[in-house]
Amino acid sequence: AFVVFEGGDGVGKSTQVELLVRRLEGAGHEVVRTLEPGGTRLGAVLRGLLLHGDGGEVGPRTEALLYAADKAEHLHQVVSPALERGAVVVCDRYVDSMVAYQGAGRVLDGDEVERVARWATGDLRPDLTVLLDLDPEAGLETLTDPDRLESAGLDFHRRARASFLALAGRDPGRYLVLPARRSRDELAEAVGVRVERLLSE
Ligand code: C5P
Repeated sequence: AFVVFEGGDGVGKSTQVELLVRRLEGAGHEVVRTLEPGGTRLGAVLRGLLLHGDGGEVGPRTEALLYAADKAEHLHQVVSPALERGAVVVCDRYVDSMVAYQGAGRVLDGDEVERVARWATGDLRPDLTVLLDLDPEAGLETLTDPDRLESAGLDFHRRARASFLALAGRDPGRYLVLPARRSRDELAEAVGVRVERLLSE
């Protein structure tokens, strides 16, 4: 099964990824925990370029293509092989982040960005996407070391949030949308119950 976490910066995705992975491993599942950008060796290099500006400033289309390259390699090297051997893949960000950030955020056409992301991933869709939803003002407050994109401005993050919610609204059966203001343990329980249901189907 393929489970993805999405949401704005500072909503607590990595904490929830960690708690879900522990829960599933505790129940005896083989779990592959991974992330985008950065889930492969090439991805780690791309993450440095994208988040720390190691390659200098790049235009929005270039940025989108670098994210797409990260995805293509990640799918090829990590996600597909893990799913093929029956592991549960828990991934921090996926296609929706590209639509929300490179599309709505950077103001490229969302449908075009989505087509690029789907091409890069061979249109492999998650079985479940957990969207942790939070007002960007609250999310950005929690970040102590804002990187290049996290300091992109509130309007950018507001457009991204609206885009995440719109994607979830388009296909509600494959999404679990949770208000990220809830306590860590409450969120983890809601996610855990839903993923266990998915795995028993
Ligand atoms: O998931 P994480 O918060 O570590 O992401 C690192 C940064 O990359 C964030 O600032 C996020 O906004 C940005 N990002 C992006 N476009 C993506 C994925 C991540 O701008 N497709």
